Amino acid sequence: MVPPLHAVIVACPLQGHFNPTMNLAELLAMRGFFITFVTTEWIDERLLKAASKDAAARDREIQERGFKFRFIAIPDGLPLEHGRTSDVGELWLALQSLGPALESVLTVTDKSVPPITCIISDSYLSCTAEVAKNLGVPRVIFWTNCTAYATIQKNANFLLSLGYIPVKEEDLKSKDKLITCLPGKIPPIRPTDIVSFLREKYISEVIYRLTLYESRFQNIADYVLINTFEELEGGKDAQIGLRVNGCPAVAIGPVFLPNFLQGRNSMYSMWEEDKTCFQWLDAQLQGSVLYVSFGSMALKSEKQLHELALGLEACGYPFLWVLRSDIAEGKSLDLPEGFKDRTKDRALIVSWTNQLKVLSHPSIGGFLTHSGWNSTLEAISMGIPMIGWPYFGDQFLNCRFVKDVWNVGLDFEGVDVDEFKLVTKEIVESTIRSIMEGSIRTKLCENVARLKEAAHKAVMEGGTSYTNLNTFVEDMQKIAKSRV
Ligand code: UDP
Repeated sequence: MVPPLHAVIVACPLQGHFNPTMNLAELLAMRGFFITFVTTEWIDERLLKAASKDAAARDREIQERGFKFRFIAIPDGLPLEHGRTSDVGELWLALQSLGPALESVLTVTDKSVPPITCIISDSYLSCTAEVAKNLGVPRVIFWTNCTAYATIQKNANFLLSLGYIPVKEEDLKSKDKLITCLPGKIPPIRPTDIVSFLREKYISEVIYRLTLYESRFQNIADYVLINTFEELEGGKDAQIGLRVNGCPAVAIGPVFLPNFLQGRNSMYSMWEEDKTCFQWLDAQLQGSVLYVSFGSMALKSEKQLHELALGLEACGYPFLWVLRSDIAEGKSLDLPEGFKDRTKDRALIVSWTNQLKVLSHPSIGGFLTHSGWNSTLEAISMGIPMIGWPYFGDQFLNCRFVKDVWNVGLDFEGVDVDEFKLVTKEIVESTIRSIMEGSIRTKLCENVARLKEAAHKAVMEGGTSYTNLNTFVEDMQKIAKSRV
């Protein structure tokens, strides 16, 4: 008999990390795992508030699905008024000290909870390494980035030893400097692909040091799961570079897709979702709308947002624009005079929405995105061509791969070298035209349709991601059996 499996899943309290981690938790709960889902009080409260429900209602919903699941929220040690996402460095620093609190909640005796089989940790939570060691259970790392980026990040200290890091200004500008020394079958990497926090200009900032620090702990693992799919990233061999001491490293994504395909919710938002936009989308022509959104953290100057607004106006397409209240570098934003009036018949501006539902709507024809990994994977899975406009972290690599490796999108020249480069309204307009009409669009649509099909196949029964996740479950069963 197989003893009950119990995964402790520790989520990073950021929108782009929490959502895939929650979807992974559900995939494992569906496969019979008892799940202890740990996150911080701050994000837990925000998610419940955004969904207008209390913890009891959430527990009831999850039990109705037949899951064995408990949520645990621990304090992150930051003061209540701290912005968290507005100072990721400080948040990250606080997360490094979560270990003792995590360990103490996991060692409370509770007879209704099976013994822990493994700790599944977001790849940026170094604190879980010590906890897994103290509890004597395997540490499973979950990457919410693509394989190529994760391989760079895991090997950041190696790249430092070779002099590629800190990334110098002249290397960023050089188009032919390629890095080919990384393990795993990933395409050659450019200096602009390396995590932006490791650029020379950030060398004295806390985020530079933290990125290198976390990299050490990304090399402590017994199993590695990645939210990507093999058909996108060079087959099974691509993930080899993420193995730690030969442990398995497998692609299991897109993790939101199984829920989505079965018509269930697969989005856990930190902001209340605007629902009016779906009625508006219903009234638009098929493939005619440009969706504009820069994820949960990217910021832009007011001057840049004005150029963007005027470019959107000039291109003439209907557009749905997610304008987070803090996007203008935290200040309140005044759009160009008369802009709202002039575009009111073909534009809708909302502060947050259910992006997956939007991207899957038939009226969406293109996506102007900050190239976060979730947004990229979601657009690919829904077959939508993109314009990438990266802001930080892995977004530069995602954007370049979308354009050069997968050929499913375009970008704005020069923003990979200087993320603050002003993109003029003329460039915005002409690039939007290229993804919304003409021969470039046709090619991009063909390519993204192929990848969409591959993504759907990967998560369905018999698909690569589906099978890899089942193998993971079997491996955890072996571990649980060996302990009896
Ligand atoms: N998202 C959403 N509604 C919005 C904007 C974004 O649901 O109005 C979701 C999006 O679907 C994605 C996540 O927020 O799952 C953003 O993650 P990503 O990795 O793209 O970017 P990040 O926010 O981490 O920079």
